[in-house]
Amino acid sequence: MSQSPQNITVLGSTGSIGVSTLDVLARHPDKYRAYALTANTSVDLIIPQIQRHSPRFAVMRDERSAQQLEDQLFALGHKETAVLSGEKGLLRVASDEAVSAVMAAIVGAAGLSPTMAAVTAGKKVLLANKESLVMAGHLFMEAVETSGATLLPIDSEHNAIFQSMPARYQSGKSTGLASEGVRRILLTGSGGPFRELPLAQLPLVTPDQACAHPNWDMGRKISVDSATMMNKGLELIEACWLFNTTADRIDIVIHPQSIIHSMVEYTDGSVLAQLGNPDMRTPIAHALAFPDRIDSGVGSLDIIATARLDFEAPDYQRFPCLRLATEAAAVGGTAMAVLNAANEVAVDAFLAGSIRFTDIPLTIEHVLAAKTIVEPDTLALVQAQDASARVLANRFIETLIRA
Ligand code: NDP
Repeated sequence: MSQSPQNITVLGSTGSIGVSTLDVLARHPDKYRAYALTANTSVDLIIPQIQRHSPRFAVMRDERSAQQLEDQLFALGHKETAVLSGEKGLLRVASDEAVSAVMAAIVGAAGLSPTMAAVTAGKKVLLANKESLVMAGHLFMEAVETSGATLLPIDSEHNAIFQSMPARYQSGKSTGLASEGVRRILLTGSGGPFRELPLAQLPLVTPDQACAHPNWDMGRKISVDSATMMNKGLELIEACWLFNTTADRIDIVIHPQSIIHSMVEYTDGSVLAQLGNPDMRTPIAHALAFPDRIDSGVGSLDIIATARLDFEAPDYQRFPCLRLATEAAAVGGTAMAVLNAANEVAVDAFLAGSIRFTDIPLTIEHVLAAKTIVEPDTLALVQAQDASARVLANRFIETLIRA
């Protein structure tokens, strides 16, 4: 008997992950329906998505953009989609009773509340927004446990780790990695566009150079995070929460070709890896259909053309953000929310041309040193720490600009 398609909410549909998600959904209209699409201000980008997918709801986080969208849809005679606005609208479509799965692909701390709303409502949550787990991992994982939500990682590395885990672990029946015979996780990263750039040139790199990732086509914020390797640091923290382990059981490995997406080593010496072309539609399709497999639109891996797979140790001197993230993970508590907030402010300032690439770690280090770290027991406390870290980061950036 044929079942009706599952309703999917795509938070951040106009972004890089959002667009890839809609591409996968469009390949399987019998299985999935885009029920709600959301963006912040990109009215021009969301209109063709609405015309193509006819979702029940479209949400613009920005109120003025919501009004613009409503006016333009009216002018186009498109009546099938109701327009909602603001955080309230995001929370509504993340937790709507009719929704089976939520793609959490808003960038940055703005993704925390809507992703948590999906978790609390017990949805199948496809987690791209790593920042929400970095900021509030403990509360987040507690909410997953309480609500019975299913959490599936979209980050290609975490998706690869998940795929390389034992079946008992994947089905949520495991009591822990050690009891499954897992010795360690090998978290791979390409090293980004500046892996071999002479160190003296790092202060001079432009936002466009930082966003020109050698292997992946991504949004600008995560592209800069990849260039500083903060992304790998955030992923280390994300992996600790997702796989209920500690940073000392995770080794970061530089693998410039981005063909192996991460590995799991077992106590018998076996190392399982997941390989594939660097295209986010693979982890998206995997998580959407899990435990089944569906076509993602990604072509076969040409292993002969790939020819070689290289590996090297990470360079903590070249990438101080990686060191800062590792230190914040060791400190725990709100250190990770503070790290994330300072990073977001600094990356914005770099992308706006206000500070240099090498000022990003300076800003984060300054804010981490200035903040008192506590163990957060509410989301409100995490959000307060996030807000005050942003104030400190902006103040520090002002001094950099004036100097
Ligand atoms: P993009 O910048 O391409 O897209 C971000 C999306 O979030 C857009 O839809 C944007 O809307 C929306 N958005 C931005 N700010 C807000 C806000 N304040 N409130 C509500 N919505 C907002 O990001 P990516 O797709 O690259 O990344 C999304 C997430 O996925 C990030 O957390 C990233 O770390 C993670 N990720 C991304 C990967 C990739 O390959 N891109 C790989 C692995 C993880 P608008 O267009 O209106 O600005």
